[in-house]
Amino acid sequence: MNQHATIATGVTKEVVGIYQPGSTHMVGDGFPVRNLFPSNDLDQKVSPFLMLDYAGPQYFSPTDHPRGVGEHPHRGFETVTIVYEGIVAHRDSAGNAGVIGPGDVQWMTAASGVVHEELHEKEFARKGGTLHAIQLWVNLPRASKMSAPGYQTILNADIPVIDLGDGGKLRVIAGSFQGRKGPARTFTPIQLYDVQLKVGAPLSQTFSDGHNTSIFVLQGSISVNGSYSAGEAELIVCKRHGSQVTIEAQADSRLLVMSGEPIEEPIARYGPFVMNTQAELAQAVQDYQAGKMGHLS
Ligand code: MN
Repeated sequence: MNQHATIATGVTKEVVGIYQPGSTHMVGDGFPVRNLFPSNDLDQKVSPFLMLDYAGPQYFSPTDHPRGVGEHPHRGFETVTIVYEGIVAHRDSAGNAGVIGPGDVQWMTAASGVVHEELHEKEFARKGGTLHAIQLWVNLPRASKMSAPGYQTILNADIPVIDLGDGGKLRVIAGSFQGRKGPARTFTPIQLYDVQLKVGAPLSQTFSDGHNTSIFVLQGSISVNGSYSAGEAELIVCKRHGSQVTIEAQADSRLLVMSGEPIEEPIARYGPFVMNTQAELAQAVQDYQAGKMGHLS
């Protein structure tokens, strides 16, 4: 009898480190965020992901003047906004507009450049309420940085939900899980899961060897691979090598699981622009100032 028959065969993706928010700041006047990266200098450890801002949860009092961040540009990557509580309204120079409510995800491909605003939705602002969201930036490979902007509205109802047992569930935003595919179209291979993990229902998952895999804990506390523990607003980063990751909740937990193929290219950043070289950044600033990324009407 093979005593190892029930043990997963993959090599464990070991934990590299556990990170706390490296900075805390307001984005505009509507998004109080804790930043996990780039503030922790994780570039090559989390590539293709560039930035993770954890907004709230924070209560906002009623107002007739929706808070948020006004007109600003992006070039060279994608912004992914995941809303847990509250409602965000978006409008951009490519003519796209949308409202992102609880469970919804907006996947905006800035690529060659858009100008947009991100505000609390009008009625939500008027009534007041709690805002709780994540904004994740996903890098584009050099060949796609100057492609046409795009926009995917991913509604809560479009996202497959997988039962993890004991009341836990996993929503597949991008990539696949147990054969179920998430709706997001991505430029490079990415797995993105919104996970509600209950105590006593460990989650064991295989990720591609060579991909960067990390787990952000919004709420609760977890252990990974039976040892490393992380709590609220902490990020666990795993090694590229290996494939097997096991997550166990010590308290009912809400997690964002991110995995993707690293983009092995230089990263040059300047505020809302992420390119490969300083010259490309200078060009981005020049193009924005010349109005080539458009304006909000
Ligand atoms: Mn933005």
